Formats: sequence, structure tokens, C-alpha cells
Amino acid sequence: PPTLPRRAIRDLPDELVSQIAAGEVVERPASVVRELVDNALDAGASQVTLRLVGGGVRLIAVEDDGSGIPQAELAVALRRHATSKITSLHDLESVATMGFRGEALAAIASVSELTLCSRTGDQASAFALAARSGELRPAARGVGTTVEVKELFFSTPARRKFLKSDATELAHCVEAVRRHALARPDVGFAIWHEGRLVQQWRACGPLHDAQALARRLADVLGEAFVTQSLALEHSAGPLTLHGRAGLPDAARARADQQYCYVNGRFVRDKVLQHAARSAYEDVLHGQRQPVYALYLDIDPALVDVNVHPTKIEVRFRDSQAVHQAVRRAIDHTLAAPRAQALAAHAE
Ligand code: ADP
Ligand code: MG
Repeated sequence: PPTLPRRAIRDLPDELVSQIAAGEVVERPASVVRELVDNALDAGASQVTLRLVGGGVRLIAVEDDGSGIPQAELAVALRRHATSKITSLHDLESVATMGFRGEALAAIASVSELTLCSRTGDQASAFALAARSGELRPAARGVGTTVEVKELFFSTPARRKFLKSDATELAHCVEAVRRHALARPDVGFAIWHEGRLVQQWRACGPLHDAQALARRLADVLGEAFVTQSLALEHSAGPLTLHGRAGLPDAARARADQQYCYVNGRFVRDKVLQHAARSAYEDVLHGQRQPVYALYLDIDPALVDVNVHPTKIEVRFRDSQAVHQAVRRAIDHTLAAPRAQALAAHAE
């Protein structure tokens, strides 16, 4: 086979490194939305507002009322591998924030026109930093942060070509916010598209309050999700589970209402999915897909979240224990009303 002429080994320019890294994290507008909402929640926001244009391709602006970024750190926030969330490997093992890789802002800025505008509680005014030009100017806003991302993939036409219609990209953006909203009923979310309010979910209370969770699930997934599901609560050693398991009658043709969270992070995990699937095995027929929202809390030392750049996959130290707990929790939840009905019948 022909061989390439030998060339010298060189460091890639920083910008190119970021663009390559962006390929892993930023697939479409919804990936940007996910990263920016992660950041808003990590900053302690109680309200997150998104403004989108052109399905998020033309503009994604995410505004929060979180802690803000000090003026002196705006430029650092945009640097690759710069983060305020961990300082050591030890921190990584117990990380409680959504972010920790310090990659998102740098990656997004390398494939868009990004502006970071922020104000902390002890600053008299906000400052806006344009990533590409480096221009810094005073701006008007309350405490918190707004990140504006314009013209996504303008410099990477190959990526841009893979984007679908505005309506499809918007739907993916809304789904990204939905995943956050289902884990944070204590935070209000609003999504605007081209001046139109497309979704608004008001803050209603903490995740561990069953009423607040039911309210948020009804707002985000529809009343039927709640009326046709049962509250679930289970604990097994170092892990606890709560949430709602849909009744067999609520099953759908598509697996589009199956939400799993590990320590507050939305995940797509084979162990959890398989456990849920097997719990429904005897009560569901054919290809019907159960609906559920499951929140697993586990000692962070027993789960590795640093498996995938987007952190959508996790690895459990004891996946068998997790599988068993999820299966039992759903089994018990679904069996309870049947047992009650039998008892009532016997009386
Ligand atoms: P990571 O979230 O992994 O730390 P990012 O690139 O997403 O990496 O963000 C870099 C840093 O910028 C964060 O660690 C945080 O200090 C700061 N930051 C980003 N977005 C916000 C925000 N909305 N509010 C406050 N600080 C933010
Ligand atoms: Mg982040």
C-alpha cells in the first residue's frame, strides 16, 4: 500500500484543538442548550430563560439569575480546561455539579460567535466579553449571566450540513431543557423562539417533594403522565430511588417518556433501562414502551460520570445492585394497587 511521506510531529494550534474537541460535545443546537443550562444550574440559578432564533442555529441566548462570573474571570471562563468546579482528582470523585471538564464554553466559542455577559453580586455593572474579538465592554443587566451563541457552525460547514429543519432543531432544544426541568422543579424555565413563548414551566418546589415533582411532571409531560403513574420510593443500602412509574395502560408505542437521572444528571443507561424493561415484562405486551421518571441517588464514589464527553453515560461500580434496586422498586410500585384490590376483595 502507498505510504504517506513522513512529516514532522507538531502541536496543533489551540483553536484547532478546540474545534476538534467541539466535535465531541457540540453536535447540534440542543447540545449547546444542554451545556449552557448545565452552567446556569451549576451557578445556582432559580430562573433560566432561553431565546432561540432559527431553531437555535441563528441564535441561542441563555439567561440566568445565578452567581455570575467576575469581570476578571470572563476570559478565563472561555479557556479550554478552565473550570471553577474541581481542582483535583479527589474532587472529581465526589463531583456534585453538572460540569467539571471546563470544555463547553471553549468548544462552543470555537464553532460560533459567542458573547459572555455577566454580573456578580458585588459588581456595580455587568460586563460583556466577545469571545472572537476579545472586546470587553460594560453592559446593563442584573446579577447573573447571559451567554449568546450566534451562527453555530459558521466555520465548520460540514457540521452545518447535518442540521435538520429549524422545527426539528427547536424540538431537540426543547427536549434538552425538558430533561433539565424534570430534575429541577425548584427552577423556573422559559423558552422563546423568534419572539414567541413556546414553553414555560414555573418553579414549584424541591425534587424530593412528591407534590412538586408531580406538578413539574404534569407541566412538562402532560397531566396524563401523572394520573396514569404511581409514586415510587425505594432504598437499598447506598442507593435510593424515587420518582413515578407509569401504569401498564400508560405505555406508548415509542420510548419517548422514559427519563432516568443519576444524582440529578439525565442519563441514558443500559443498566437502568434494562432493569425497568424487565420490571414491566410481565405486564406489557408486544412492543409497548413503559413511561417512567426515575431519580437514583447514589454515593458519588460508586458511580463514574467521566465516561463520555457529554456525560450522558455513567458507569456504576456495582451495576447488579443498581439493576436489582430499580427492578424491585418498580415491581413493588406496580404490585401495590393489585395487592390493595385483592385485600379489599377479600374483606
Ligand atoms: P465547566 O462547566 O465544566 O466548568 P464550562 O466551559 O461550561 O466548564 O464553563 C467554564 C466556567 O465558566 C465554569 O466553571 C464557571 O465557573 C463559569 N461559568 C460558565 N457559565 C456560567 C454561568 N451561567 N454562571 C456562572 N458561571 C458560569
Ligand atoms: Mg459547563
